[in-house]
Amino acid sequence: MASMLGGCSCGAVRYSLSSAPFDAGWCHCRTCQLTSGGPAMAFATVPIRHYRIERGAEIIKRRASSSFGHRTFCKECGSPLSIQVDYQPETIDLPIATLDEPDAVVPEFHIFWSSKVSWFPPDDDLPTFERFRPNTVGLDRTEPPE
Ligand SMILES: [Zn+2]
Ligand SMILES: [Zn+2]
Repeated sequence: MASMLGGCSCGAVRYSLSSAPFDAGWCHCRTCQLTSGGPAMAFATVPIRHYRIERGAEIIKRRASSSFGHRTFCKECGSPLSIQVDYQPETIDLPIATLDEPDAVVPEFHIFWSSKVSWFPPDDDLPTFERFRPNTVGLDRTEPPE
């Protein structure tokens, strides 16, 4: 497929994906709420080898956002750019809305429904999970949110 492109709010960081993202879903965990300032974030996954920073690598800040994961963001504008779970080194999750064409990747489920903001009622029939989805690699349902 042709590369999908995305980047941060200020445009300093640009990335490309060389395969179609999968496992697209909403996350309603508190960390996503605090990271985004919104009620939830929508993520999708690609193999790490298919994720390439095209510009701005030097201004990407990487921080541990939990005991088992890291998030990156643009140091200039603060846009969140990725999550990497330490147990899943082969893949990276990216916020769908940072894609140039976010309509192209459609969420298929909700996780961390237990901390969904009450006034944010997604009007869909997607499956909901109180915490992680079952069988999420390396993460059982007793772990704190990323
Ligand atoms: Zn930026
Ligand atoms: Zn989350």
